[in-house]
Amino acid sequence: MTFEKEELFATTQASGCIDVLVPRCLIGDGANICGLPVDLEGLCSLRLSWKDGKISSIKGIPEDSKLPNEILLPRFIEPHAHIDKAFTWKRSPNLRGSYDGALEANLRNYAARSEEDLLCSSGKSLDLAFSNGIRAIRSHIDSFGKNALNDWDLLGDVRKKWQEKILLQYVALVPLDFWETYEGELLAKRVAFSGDLLGGVVAPPYNKKKTFKSLVHLIQLGNQLDCDIDLHIDESQSSAAAGLKLLLKALEQVENKVSITCSHLSSMALLGQQKLSQLAAKLYRYKVNVVALPLTNSWLLGRKDRSTLIKRPLAPIFELQKAGVVVAVGGDNVNDSWFPLSSFDPINLMAFSMSIAHLSPWDRLGLSPFSTSAAHLLGLEWKGNLAIGSPADWVLLDSNSWVEALSSKPKKRVVVKGNFLD
Ligand SMILES: [Zn+2]
Repeated sequence: MTFEKEELFATTQASGCIDVLVPRCLIGDGANICGLPVDLEGLCSLRLSWKDGKISSIKGIPEDSKLPNEILLPRFIEPHAHIDKAFTWKRSPNLRGSYDGALEANLRNYAARSEEDLLCSSGKSLDLAFSNGIRAIRSHIDSFGKNALNDWDLLGDVRKKWQEKILLQYVALVPLDFWETYEGELLAKRVAFSGDLLGGVVAPPYNKKKTFKSLVHLIQLGNQLDCDIDLHIDESQSSAAAGLKLLLKALEQVENKVSITCSHLSSMALLGQQKLSQLAAKLYRYKVNVVALPLTNSWLLGRKDRSTLIKRPLAPIFELQKAGVVVAVGGDNVNDSWFPLSSFDPINLMAFSMSIAHLSPWDRLGLSPFSTSAAHLLGLEWKGNLAIGSPADWVLLDSNSWVEALSSKPKKRVVVKGNFLD
């Protein structure tokens, strides 16, 4: 599934030239940067020109020029959000912060959700995301109630309204066995028709036989309809990678041609090194992508009453990357029963991920989960490399160092197709 993003933006005549700091690892083809200095944080001073909304030249800045005072990044991708329930914390709080409490509050909120509530959550989410420099979002949508098809119609309108600004992919989030029902089949056809994804939850306690059967059915359904799959899987502090093992067993039995993403995959980190490497190699072999979600995992998992546990399960990002698996990092929930904080701000997510997941933006594999890997995972045409001919779609941070940018709240300027936003 490839989205032709270019078609979604109106053609502009925007052109300009700017001196900026750019992460060396994002500089792509056509740039004449041999011998240019790179600072300790991997930032390279460049003069970028653009014409008709695309990069027309990439050069070093002349020696007598001032050091640039802005960091330029490609506009961000949010690979895992829930725009249908963001900002519902006040209506359905989960003060204990437990997984079960979050689920209970979620179900209560979903049962009472009106059309207006849905439009309010999604509208506020997209406003914030756009002003924070996000260009594409994959959002899971609670889709198991009587209003599910109507919600999808409404969110289809939301997507149309926002298509010039943010590319939206939706994932139908349902209990896994819902896909085996008549209603599930109807929803799957609706989802496939709009080019979106089938989702589900695979979490303990497991009935292994039943879960395996449901996974086989889901993969077959996805292939029949040519519909990609994104699962909430093993978001847990127990039953290490039990859901993943069932998924891999299903993939051994069913021929699969669609893209599969494992979101969370937290309990995999509880495995021993050898088993973990074996499973990571299998994920690579079956081309399964992973979205790690450090914020919600740190908040919900590893809790035990009033004891402070040091085990905080999170997808084993480094080991997965070492095996060649595409790993992106997402923000997940915003101001809802699953996570009370956050604000669709990718810089904030990067700052927290530094300490939680040890992802440093000056390392290529520390930056890729927020940039190129996330674009790859969503199947976007432009992966975020800065090359001649690539879109002038950027976020400019008012800072000349990563540490400063991630410590303070830097001013941002967002550029869409070569045009600076107000
Ligand atoms: Zn989620």
